[in-house]
Amino acid sequence: MTRPARACINLRALQHNLQRVRQSAPHSRIMAIIKANAYGHGLVCAAQAMHDADGFGVASPEEGVALRESGFDRRIVLLEGIFTAEDIALAGGYRLDIVVHHISQLEMLEHARPARPVDVWLKLDTGMNRLGFEPDAVSHITDRLQGLHQVGGVRYMTHFACADDAEDATTAIQLERFTDALSPLAGERSLANSAAVLAWPDTHADWVRPGIMLYGASPLVGRRADELDLRPAMTLKTQLIAINACRAGDAVGYGGDWRCPEAMSVGVAAIGYGDGYPRHATSGMPVLVNGKRAALIGRVSMDMICIDLRGHEQPAVGDEVVLWGEGLPVDEVARGAGTISYELLCGVNQRVAHEYTS
Ligand SMILES: *Cc1c(COP(=O)(O)O)cnc(C)c1O
Repeated sequence: MTRPARACINLRALQHNLQRVRQSAPHSRIMAIIKANAYGHGLVCAAQAMHDADGFGVASPEEGVALRESGFDRRIVLLEGIFTAEDIALAGGYRLDIVVHHISQLEMLEHARPARPVDVWLKLDTGMNRLGFEPDAVSHITDRLQGLHQVGGVRYMTHFACADDAEDATTAIQLERFTDALSPLAGERSLANSAAVLAWPDTHADWVRPGIMLYGASPLVGRRADELDLRPAMTLKTQLIAINACRAGDAVGYGGDWRCPEAMSVGVAAIGYGDGYPRHATSGMPVLVNGKRAALIGRVSMDMICIDLRGHEQPAVGDEVVLWGEGLPVDEVARGAGTISYELLCGVNQRVAHEYTS
């Protein structure tokens, strides 16, 4: 017997969503972002499904190495660059591109002797105030990089703070700062995350960097994934493992917060915050039982949730329960739990078996 909680990954949906990126940014190359274990979908399996991508972006050198060792031959970019001098040797050995966003990374590079020159993406901070050099510093940093024989090509990138809101003026300002700072410099450019791929075509440049849209969640405020023709890649499922006949007034779960308003069936499903289901989900959060909507009741436990089964014909132990994915958008669940789809998807942990279908 295995515990029934599982993440079913639809590889065809990943491929479809990658095609959506191609349609939306037909003149750009695609750096598919697969950091955080491909947003919880499984790094190598997701990458293999999206082998048509022109490159991949990851956050950690370990992910870059794992991906290279899986046989992928094109560009792999370490989005936060190197953390230690040893990472430069890894980048040289495994042909990983590195982002340089801070002077300390440039200094490490100046003292390194990698096996072969490392390609660099110089990151500009155009207004997010997170990572990157001030636009004014870019010419000088470029000169220092280009003077190093341990550096191969130099490319340029920035990241948007507010591209998910098609009405927000910040994106145009960031684009302008980026374009102005780089006007005297040659080299490929990259700005667009998923939101910008869909809502800001002027930002597509040489490389787009989609993440969340590949996994079938909406990157845009107020737009549903299905309206954007994105298909959910992960369906998180489990089964009912108990059904209780409760009486009016019975309290359900820790704290006894939720009380049965009448005699009713309460289902218990094998999934909880120990699997990555959000503990902030509250009573009323939708789930699907045998494809039909039902409501979570009471607090989420580590391994279990309780479900109001009123209106469900003859529910049985073993019946399928869907937490999000096909038939129940992860964006809707995220909103109900006060978070974003990104956090839910990459929070699904190793305790949940991943199954792949094509
Ligand atoms: C995560 C990330 C992306 C992808 O963002 P989405 O909103 O998931 O499309 C792009 N670029 C960088 C630098 C990132 O860290």
